Amino acid sequence: MSPIAQAVQACRRHIESSLAACGRPSGAVGLLAVSKTFPPEAIREAYAAGQRSFGENYLQEALPKIAALADLPEIEWHFIGPIQSNKTRPIAEHFHWAHAIDRLKVAERLSAARPEGLPALQVCVQVNISGEATKSGVDPEHALDLAVSVARLPRLRLRGFMGIAEPTADATLPRAQFALLRAILQTAQSAGLSVDTLSMGMSADLEAAIAEGATLVRVGTAIFGARAPHASMDVHHS
Ligand SMILES: *Cc1c(COP(=O)(O)O)cnc(C)c1O
Repeated sequence: MSPIAQAVQACRRHIESSLAACGRPSGAVGLLAVSKTFPPEAIREAYAAGQRSFGENYLQEALPKIAALADLPEIEWHFIGPIQSNKTRPIAEHFHWAHAIDRLKVAERLSAARPEGLPALQVCVQVNISGEATKSGVDPEHALDLAVSVARLPRLRLRGFMGIAEPTADATLPRAQFALLRAILQTAQSAGLSVDTLSMGMSADLEAAIAEGATLVRVGTAIFGARAPHASMDVHHS
């Protein structure tokens, strides 16, 4: 078995043991493999190990990879990077999901550009749960309003919320930030939105995220290895 296939399996076991540790049912968390900066061959190896959902941050990098892997019938592409409003059309045309909706204008443009022949684009509203000024995402107090507006758009299907915890040595801090995102999901459900997704947790903090109710973890390094700096790296997101 290839190292990447082994890492996919180890990551699945890690997710299952984290679920068991907090009394949640097996299978309650999906795995999104974050393949940014890694070549199509690496994605093929993960696919051969049963992985189907892949996350990309940079459009210019992702589009040729999506084309190169078009022969994989069940592959599902998630755009997890910040979305510039002039890049909405190719995202709407080539991805199944977009996780980082942080303003209505971007959502409206994605909805307008989603081709009629495709099912609705699955989306999450990104919330700035760490409160760091440099991080993208809508402020927690505006998350519900944005979600309500996004849910009305015809060619989008609002699934829930996405957040990135502040990397820190203090393990209680990400836990509190993930709990905030969970509370926002519950508020949205109480307000009548049919949302079910908490996209939170990465290689370093997936246990805390799962303990706070994550339904989808986004794991890059633990599957594909350390990333080299990337030429098209968005300067706002190192
Ligand atoms: C890169 C990235 C990840 C994966 O991070 P790792 O620490 O490599 O697991 C997850 N989510 C987002 C939004 C990312 O940009």
